[in-house]
Amino acid sequence: MPRRVLVLNATYEPINVCSTKRAIVLLLKNRAEILVSGMGEIRGESLSMPRPLVIKLLTYVVVPRGERRRLSRRVVLARDGHRCQYCGSTRHLTLDHVIPRSRGGGTSWENVVTSCFPCNTRKGAHLPTEIGMAPRVRPRNPSLAEFLVASPTEIPDDWRPYLEPTTATS
Ligand SMILES: [Zn+2]
Repeated sequence: MPRRVLVLNATYEPINVCSTKRAIVLLLKNRAEILVSGMGEIRGESLSMPRPLVIKLLTYVVVPRGERRRLSRRVVLARDGHRCQYCGSTRHLTLDHVIPRSRGGGTSWENVVTSCFPCNTRKGAHLPTEIGMAPRVRPRNPSLAEFLVASPTEIPDDWRPYLEPTTATS
């Protein structure tokens, strides 16, 4: 059964999800260590090791800032704490383009925020400066942890302790 392995940076920040095969290569090259292993062992001709579920790189790697994940409503809502970024409401939530599309704003993590329907309507096609409505927190690319937690795919329970927001820094 193909398993996915959560890869943490040397700082414990989740940075990637890889195949078991790729994880074994990192472990054999002494570039990573196993933090959590699952049932059973991986057996090869000359090796036998626990089945990795979470591994940690031994040296810090700089994660390219340019890495893009596809924009998703669920993740934007999770990133914004399920609150309107203009008034703080938790009801009738929609997504709003900070710079409206009609004014050249793109559909990107840095330009889309959670907004309640009334705020979204009030803001309309105005720029934030024109109507005095700026998001409370500057929208940003989500961390891998934020992305995984909001993902519709089942997350292995063994990963959860490493996806707590305390270590997410991106
Ligand atoms: Zn609002």
